Order: sequence, then structure tokens, then C-alpha cells
Amino acid sequence: MRGAVRWGRRLAIGVAGLMGLMLVSGGSASDAHRIEWTWAEKKREAERPKEPLLPPLPTLPPTFERPKTDCRKLRCVALTFDDGPGPDTERLLDMLARAKAKATFFVIGLNAAQYPDVLLRVAEEGHEVGNHTQKHLQLTSEPDKAVDRELDATNRAIKSVLGFPPTLFRPPYGATDKRVERHARDDGMAVILWSVDTNDWENRDSGVVARRAVKGLRRGSIILMHDIHPTSVDAVPRILEAARRKGLTLASVSDVLAASEGVKKPKPGKKYLGR
Ligand SMILES: [Zn+2]
Repeated sequence: MRGAVRWGRRLAIGVAGLMGLMLVSGGSASDAHRIEWTWAEKKREAERPKEPLLPPLPTLPPTFERPKTDCRKLRCVALTFDDGPGPDTERLLDMLARAKAKATFFVIGLNAAQYPDVLLRVAEEGHEVGNHTQKHLQLTSEPDKAVDRELDATNRAIKSVLGFPPTLFRPPYGATDKRVERHARDDGMAVILWSVDTNDWENRDSGVVARRAVKGLRRGSIILMHDIHPTSVDAVPRILEAARRKGLTLASVSDVLAASEGVKKPKPGKKYLGR
């Protein structure tokens, strides 16, 4: 009964609205017909059974292993890209693929969920993926609960796309302390900072960004950039070319640290800065 009353009221509002529209638009019969037709279409649309949800994206096969670069033999440097994936990430992947360069992407959980196919491509093409929190919070001023939530949610987002969680973590703003590192350790992740800051978020000039990165190109360095800024992506070809001239190989953070720190894999909870 209540439903019928509500329906009646809705109909009354609809008729009043229709009359108002006819009044405003001059009220021709064909207008009224068009309006009624749209209304009927909308109603049918609402009643149509919902489309089944799309099947989940395929993840990497369980046997997938990131191709390794032997940085004990080669002179390696690590380019790292934070805050994505975003609209410019695929353009960056094309550049890296052309140069056969590997990089590390510290992704935001919410962006990973928004661009799952891009994240999958990042891993498929042999780049390393790390956690950069869910919402880019400064964890040193967040309570334990929030730190947990930020790390867990991002690891889940990454795992749902790739099939495995990351082993590297980069705290937003580089804000870390013993407590944050303990959380990272509990989640099986090493804390990765950087030795070269391009400040590309501040300077949206690809020439400036490229110059700063090129200056920091040396064996074992970890270079900080952001793939959410088109200007940073624009700087990459110049960086790749300079690395080639200097005889440096662009490799993932884990591969670079394997040589410079002499570790098989970066230790969970330990902080690494690069050279
Ligand atoms: Zn960031």
C-alpha cells in the first residue's frame, strides 16, 4: 500500500513536471510525446536486468618471474616512478621498451585499481612494482591502524592485478621512521628511498628534469621521478640516451641493490637509499 502511495505521488510529480516543461517549451504535442517517450525509455532501462559484471582481468601466470638484470656484471642505475599508474604511464612504457630499459613503479593503490591493465603491462614488460600507499598519506603522522590500512589495501590492490604482492615500499614524501619500517617489515617489504631527486613535481620542465636525472646517473643510484606528470615522461628519452652514452644499464631497484648492497633481495623493513 505504501508503495502504491509513493508511486501515485511520483506520477503526480511527473505529470506536474511534464506540464511545466510543456508550458516552458511552448507546449507542443510532439514535445510532450518526446518527453513521455524518454520517460518510458528510462523506466525500461531501470527495469532491464543488470549486465553481469565483467570477468576479472587475467593476472600474470603463477610461474611468472620478473626477468633479472645481472648488475654485478653490468653497471646499473634505477629509475623509479611514483604516484601512478596514470594516463601517461603507457607512453612511458613504450619509451622504456624501445630502449630495453627496466624501471620500478611505486604505485598508489587507488590508481592501481583504476588502471589495472596498465599495471599488468608494467609487470608483464619486466618492470618492478612497489607499494606507495593507498592514498598517499604521510605515514609518520598517522596512527598504526591507518599505516596498516594504507599498506594492506595497496598490497591487496596490486595482488588482485598481478597475482602477487610487492616486496618494495616507498613511503610518500620519503617520510619514514622505525615504526613505519616495522610495518613494512611485517608486510614483507623493504623501504626504498632515493639518492637523486629530480624534483619533477615542482619543476614541470622536461629539460630541467632530464638535466637533474642525467647528473645523477651513476652506478647504483636510485632516481626519483613521477609518471603522473607528462613533463617527467617527456624527459625520459634524454635520460635513456645519456645512460646509454655513459654505458649504464637501467634496471629495477631490486637488481640494482642486489649488486650495490650485495643482497639476494632487499631485506623487509630495511631502508635503502641507493648511491
Ligand atoms: Zn609520491
